[in-house]
Amino acid sequence: MHPQHDMSKSEELFARAELVIPGGVNSPVRAFRSVGLTPFFVESARGSRINDVDGNSYLDYVQSWGASILGHADPRVIAAISEAAERGTTYGAPTEHEVELAEVIASSVRGVAMVRLVSSGTEAVMTAIRIARGATGRDRVVKFAGCYHGHSDAVLAGGGSGVATLGLPDSLGVTKNAVADTLVVDYNTIPDINSDVACVIVEPVAANMGLVPPDPGYLEGLRSACDQAGALLIFDEVISGFRISRGGASEHFGVDADLYTFGKVIGGGLPLAAVGGSQDLMRELAPTGPIYQAGTLSGNPLATAAGLKVLSLLDPRAFDELSARVERLVGGLVEAISASGLEVQVPRLRTLFSIFFTDAPVRNFADAKRAADSGVYARFFRSMLARNISLAPSAYEVGFVSLAHTDEDIEATIEAAGESAIEVLESL
Ligand SMILES: *Cc1c(COP(=O)(O)O)cnc(C)c1O
Repeated sequence: MHPQHDMSKSEELFARAELVIPGGVNSPVRAFRSVGLTPFFVESARGSRINDVDGNSYLDYVQSWGASILGHADPRVIAAISEAAERGTTYGAPTEHEVELAEVIASSVRGVAMVRLVSSGTEAVMTAIRIARGATGRDRVVKFAGCYHGHSDAVLAGGGSGVATLGLPDSLGVTKNAVADTLVVDYNTIPDINSDVACVIVEPVAANMGLVPPDPGYLEGLRSACDQAGALLIFDEVISGFRISRGGASEHFGVDADLYTFGKVIGGGLPLAAVGGSQDLMRELAPTGPIYQAGTLSGNPLATAAGLKVLSLLDPRAFDELSARVERLVGGLVEAISASGLEVQVPRLRTLFSIFFTDAPVRNFADAKRAADSGVYARFFRSMLARNISLAPSAYEVGFVSLAHTDEDIEATIEAAGESAIEVLESL
């Protein structure tokens, strides 16, 4: 067994936190429950590494759940934030950076002509669904099991991410009425939709039940099913946008949606997200249209400064470089883990990957759940953490590699994975 880290300060903080914050955390998966540990508390982070309050340093594959594509505390982003902060942190009035960020997103994503900036992916999805319902005059929303679209009532049903991690069927506190118009179907299955459907919302690359890429032709199939029924297609690109390529999944697969949501990468580590689409649809929003949406901190100057700086550094070469790095990592992980005799699938789509301990490819939530329920991931997580590698503390999340991860980081991770796999196998 690998020597356990000193975690005394983290444990002390967690005990205090549990008295004043439910579960000790401000977002459930952070509590490390599904991997059977108490979480480390962060002191600082830089590049590929994250450092805890007890002086331990980990190679980080969480990267704030994908919000840090350049790596932590990139000096160029910090400078942009500091410079913005000197001029005030929020005004509740429009700024030039909001215009620039909207222009950058609109010029990067094929189906987006206009965007409204908000502060979280949850908000972006709420607004996208409201636009779809308002514009079509229909109520029903179709979503897919294992896809996560934030924590708003209408789309929490059948959610991935933390909902899946905690094994929650749904959430208490969501009324029957709130989900009466939500239909949950299997991912990689084309739903039967008719004329009461306002929209089909999908993660074009599912990344909240581990990584489940769309089957060939799947997104095209959703596009034509929506067209036939007169429903709108929403691509929730909160993870895939500006992560698998600059134009996200719509560019990668050559399929356009009607509405798009973005978050994570585009805020450069600050709270920022966006909903976008055609001018016709987006002008339905107040003040030009009858669909209401607003936000005190929307388009926040620190967040737009950080987002603009990050997006300015993400040229096509950056995505190719990152993709090559993830390809090396994934190849190494498959080899090192398989060598131990453990059955593993490590799907990759460009810059995203995840690890499923199972012998068959994962195509939907039922497959992902089978892999997670084996409990092997939790053991692997603990063995990796003991070797100073921080993976997502849940079998349902993807891995995020940043542009700051070096070849040596990748090699160290592969070596640790080989050792961990042997340790896990011996423990089973
Ligand atoms: C993270 C995520 C959200 C929610 O974003 P928050 O900023 O956490 O509210 C929505 N959709 C997808 C696909 C996500 O990964």
